[in-house]
Amino acid sequence: MGADPLTESLRRHFGWESFRPGQRPVVEALLAGRDCLAVLPTGAGKSLCFQLPALVRDGLVVVISPLVALMQDQVSQLQARGIPAACLHRGLDSGQRRQLQQRLAANRLRLLYLAPERAQAEATRQLLDEALETGRLVALAVDEAHCISAWGHDFRPDYRRLGQLRALCPGVPLVALSATAAPQVRADIIRLLQLRRPLVQVRSARRGNLAYTMRRRPADPLAEVVAAIGEARGAVLIYARTRRSVEHWAARLTAAGVEAIAYHAGMDPESRQLALRHFQEHPAPVLVATVAFGMGVDRPDVGLVLHLDLPASAEGYLQESGRAGRDGLPARCLVLFDPADRTSLGWAMRSAGQQLPPDQRLLERHRLELAQQQLRRIEAVAEGEGCREQALLLTVGEISPPCGRCDNCLSSPSRNDWAPQAAVLLSA
Ligand code: ADP
Ligand code: MG
Ligand code: ZN
Repeated sequence: MGADPLTESLRRHFGWESFRPGQRPVVEALLAGRDCLAVLPTGAGKSLCFQLPALVRDGLVVVISPLVALMQDQVSQLQARGIPAACLHRGLDSGQRRQLQQRLAANRLRLLYLAPERAQAEATRQLLDEALETGRLVALAVDEAHCISAWGHDFRPDYRRLGQLRALCPGVPLVALSATAAPQVRADIIRLLQLRRPLVQVRSARRGNLAYTMRRRPADPLAEVVAAIGEARGAVLIYARTRRSVEHWAARLTAAGVEAIAYHAGMDPESRQLALRHFQEHPAPVLVATVAFGMGVDRPDVGLVLHLDLPASAEGYLQESGRAGRDGLPARCLVLFDPADRTSLGWAMRSAGQQLPPDQRLLERHRLELAQQQLRRIEAVAEGEGCREQALLLTVGEISPPCGRCDNCLSSPSRNDWAPQAAVLLSA
């Protein structure tokens, strides 16, 4: 039986048999010229949604992404498949820019990745002019679109100016993508990017193979951390809050006989690259990192994601813990927290705000209040007695039954049993 043309392109360009849930409607909408907002869980395959249209049309798709490392990663993955892709960022010299220009002019580029601060630059606009005029610009994609919203957990001021994209390319469909966007954040994305009657494709953030555990951290958690690593399959990802604590824990675990590698943004690029490679290639690596690590990292068999402190927000935590078990097999997400974590996290946020220029302080104060609110919420999840997954999902606007897998569900299944209520609802 012959496949339909889209599935055929998927096979030809990527070698995959079928679309994953959520992908096809977005691809079709973009090909029909319609704006989209895609909120699909981590690992769902959001990149394909904007990559395939470029290939189907033999045109160009421009992608805005928050981190250079993320962009380079995607570009090399595409190149490995023989798909012409490039990345435009501040680091390019004039020779490289000229080469890029030539490739664009000759229509020899399918995906062009841009850092957000480049997206509004005059030089970039000129670069894209020809593709625009000849109708070869198939779509614009804004990846990690929650970064545009101050309600989101990872607000980036550079993203605010992306609102100008719409005016720049009025006839070109825009797609915004994110793994975690509560309804408020979704509304912000639609408004700020000026999406027009977008197709909104949202799938549950629920991950049926993850088991959450949240526990008070003992005075010295070493034994507990070592035991959790010992029980885990595949790769282990450990998050610590500060660079110092990342290095401390990598050294401590290694001294305790568990080879552990450190990763944080303060390391030189070469060591970071080495750590990244170790994490991707070692059969059972243990990586200790700050939350700077992980966006776009795609190792399917992470068996444990362990937080050594209270995460900063529930949305951030869903994204970080979501790096576990992308292969669909059971995986654990463990948080070791202390009530003092909220205070120290709050302090860190406040002092970061004081370094800003005066004209940004009001926005910063607003953000600080939101951040404190998010902290109180995740603390309530950690201290609470109800289902962890249910509570986490509620923070992104999702209502779900108790998971039956988290520590609280397992310790008192009856308290979290929805069956009686469900029965009443069904009979009503
Ligand atoms: P996201 O951005 O949603 O977190 P990615 O776009 O990074 O996810 O994709 C996650 C993984 O899924 C990648 O390894 C990608 O190659 C793979 N993938 C995407 N779509 C499909 C598909 N239709 N079939 C099989 N694998 C896919
Ligand atoms: Mg992605
Ligand atoms: Zn549960």
